[in-house]
Amino acid sequence: MSEPGRVALVTGGSRGIGRAICERLAADGCRVAVNYSRRADAAEEVVAAIVAAGGTAIAVGADVGDASAVEAMFTTIESAFGPVEVLVNNAGITRDGLLMRMSEADWSDVLVTNLSSIYLCTRRAMKGMVRARWGRVISVSSVSGIAGNPGQANYAASKAGIIGFSKSVSKEVGSRNITVNVVAPGFIETDMTDALGEGAKSTATDSIAVGRLGTPQEVASAVGYLASPEAAYITGHVLVVDGGIAL
Ligand code: NAD
Repeated sequence: MSEPGRVALVTGGSRGIGRAICERLAADGCRVAVNYSRRADAAEEVVAAIVAAGGTAIAVGADVGDASAVEAMFTTIESAFGPVEVLVNNAGITRDGLLMRMSEADWSDVLVTNLSSIYLCTRRAMKGMVRARWGRVISVSSVSGIAGNPGQANYAASKAGIIGFSKSVSKEVGSRNITVNVVAPGFIETDMTDALGEGAKSTATDSIAVGRLGTPQEVASAVGYLASPEAAYITGHVLVVDGGIAL
């Protein structure tokens, strides 16, 4: 359980894993800022579900790869709830393709959305966390960032970058009661994996020890644990949530 009333921001919180994380943190007592990039209606639906369950949430729009949008998002959250205490860097995209055919746009869009966003949001959140001498930063990487994956050089580079970033920052701020951790999911049932098609999903399932794809809620449980007081002595860690994918 997170401490009651903590202010949490979940980037890309309007669907998939992000939505499950918003709902989990709200159930644990956090006041949740649900970030979205384009679909305000989807984010408002998450807010409504949280409020209906007795929680507190607001929707905040921002492209997390855009520095001025990130600044405006934090200002909005601070006016509504106060400084962000639990930051979950979840927003991410794929632009898959073999390296030989990968355009510069596909490279930079993925690096900006998946990795620069984490620099922007974590650096901004750190101001309040250092002042409060308490904070939790949890970023969503991927097993692709650990093992690599053909067709995902851009995505795997961004997800591996998250791990190096988090380990470094964990060493900078650990003495202030701020933990910085990573959750690395395997194959999880969301729009992102739906795009792969049934053939790819069934091949992936063959290499998963527990014999099925994971659920967004199973990733959210790991995030909820790392956000909780029970995880105060865990930092710079990569928690793999992949059902035992054979790497
Ligand atoms: P999804 O596509 O369903 O959700 C991604 C979310 O990120 C969406 O809400 C989207 O609006 C948001 N987003 C994208 N670009 C954004 C931007 N510029 N600014 C703000 N928000 C933005 O995917 P998902 O499967 O729920 O993925 C969530 C995270 O988990 C991603 O970082 C993804 O890389 C990671 N992940 C997913 C899987 C999986 O199997 N689904 C596996 C490993 C890692």
